[in-house]
Amino acid sequence: MDYPLAIVGSGPAAHTAAIYAARANLKPVMFEGLMAGGVAPGGQLTTTTEIENFPGFPGGISGPQLMDQMREQSVSFGTEIFTETVTEVIQRDDHFVIKTDDRSVTAATVIISTGATAKRLGMPGETEFWQRGISACAVCDGALPIFRDQELVVIGGGDTAAEEALFLTKYASKVTLLVRRDEMRASKVMQDRVFNNKKIEVLWNTQAQQANGDEQQLRSLTIVTNGEEKTLACGGLFYAIGHKPNTDFLDGLVETDDKGYIITKPDSTATSVAGIFAAGDVQDAIFRQAVTSAGTGCMAALEAERFIESNAQLTHA
Ligand code: FAD
Repeated sequence: MDYPLAIVGSGPAAHTAAIYAARANLKPVMFEGLMAGGVAPGGQLTTTTEIENFPGFPGGISGPQLMDQMREQSVSFGTEIFTETVTEVIQRDDHFVIKTDDRSVTAATVIISTGATAKRLGMPGETEFWQRGISACAVCDGALPIFRDQELVVIGGGDTAAEEALFLTKYASKVTLLVRRDEMRASKVMQDRVFNNKKIEVLWNTQAQQANGDEQQLRSLTIVTNGEEKTLACGGLFYAIGHKPNTDFLDGLVETDDKGYIITKPDSTATSVAGIFAAGDVQDAIFRQAVTSAGTGCMAALEAERFIESNAQLTHA
């Protein structure tokens, strides 16, 4: 066996798992990905500027800097890192084979922490104003100074969109919810909360066409409502159109829900396959935060360590 533990992914879940496992002398190998799921090594936090809710940084810290520091800590305790994307995980009798385009390694246990990628619309201006007014996480970014007392826009019609719109009313002067159809998919209770909130206006049958702004930030959106083009003042735009968990490469090896999120056992990171654990956003469609990802990364490393120990005891018995 090449390694006791292989970690796939490189966000807060992967690095927390690596730090715990390396300190427990599990000599983990990590495959951090090469723009896997459209995200750089380091994960989703590399796509954002200021992180104000990760404990230990009272003045905030930039996303890329936080991830660089986590990586440095993983390496300092002995994690071996390959900047490669895992293309396949194969289950053998008592181990797993982890394949990339460049190598194939064997490991006794695997932690999957490949995250989930926020869906984007791909409209003109989106890339230009990403993190200069456009975000995919209201809970993460809504309280940032650039969004305070602004007219904000949320796109989506599900529970997440309703929740994000309601959350943003704490900071915004007004929130406009753009819904593609003439009804919302959100639950009745969430819809009622949206309709009863005086700060929220819902625009039905509406699609955003283009993000417009200046050198500093996003200022307006070109929208189409019932076929009519308009300009909507907009100091901040939040996508709530879903996430795609990065699990395609597993090709059904572990059980997932209908959206592709890995199903873990209650109070555990254990998956449907003994020896494979899942941590972070790839198994969490609800909280999706750096600190919750780190928490499950810790759990996965401890569970992998126990799995290895109990297998060793069985072998020696
Ligand atoms: P991710 O961060 O999703 O990283 C997974 C990594 O695995 C990626 O680098 C990916 O490329 C890699 N990968 C995928 N497939 C493979 C493969 N096959 N092989 C190898 N590698 C692979 N949370 C907060 O707590 N505070 C914030 O302020 C905050 N701001 C955010 C701002 C934005 C714009 C976004 C999008 C998210 C924000 N979040 C924030 C959420 C936070 O980033 C995520 O909850 C967290 O990063 C999830 O961590 P993770 O470890 O599950 O994986």
